[in-house]
Amino acid sequence: MLDFYYSTMSGGKSTALLQRRHNLTSIGKRVLVMTSALDDRFGIGKITSRMGPQCDAVLYSRDTVFDSTLDLGDVAELILDEAQFLTGAQVRQIHENFCARGQRVSCFGLRSTFQGLPFEGSAALMAIADNLHELSTLCQCGSKATLNQRIDALGHPVRSGPEVEIGGDNRYRPVCASCFHAVSR
Ligand SMILES: [Zn+2]
Repeated sequence: MLDFYYSTMSGGKSTALLQRRHNLTSIGKRVLVMTSALDDRFGIGKITSRMGPQCDAVLYSRDTVFDSTLDLGDVAELILDEAQFLTGAQVRQIHENFCARGQRVSCFGLRSTFQGLPFEGSAALMAIADNLHELSTLCQCGSKATLNQRIDALGHPVRSGPEVEIGGDNRYRPVCASCFHAVSR
């Protein structure tokens, strides 16, 4: 079973991941948490939410191969954070080598880039996950936020640049379509 939990930045993704892990471990299930080596905001291999709790995570990179060389033993559920950074090939490996053989995998990630384009990993997950779960938050105007706006130090929108620029949640804000395009309804 492959589940994809998607959200915007500051959309409660890490909190939901930590809650999912807590729910499973509290009934005696073994869980393996992995996160992308690309994201070191909170220190290498840590999942941290604004609420405080955190857990250690094993790192994956774009070179990680998700097959039987990754020994899952008695892991009841593999949880992957920052799943937007998976390649499409890695999502297909997870789907075929793990999920199709009965392994539960839950992926947590951002749906789209700051330019409103799909991340590679998220596009693949949207296409083949068994279950899609939207974790929603609010735009500053009160509408549902569906997009991530990158902002500069003065809070002005940034519309070009590299897809990945990690280094602080304060460089992004969750916004609705109207605020993203700076038009009024
Ligand atoms: Zn808005």
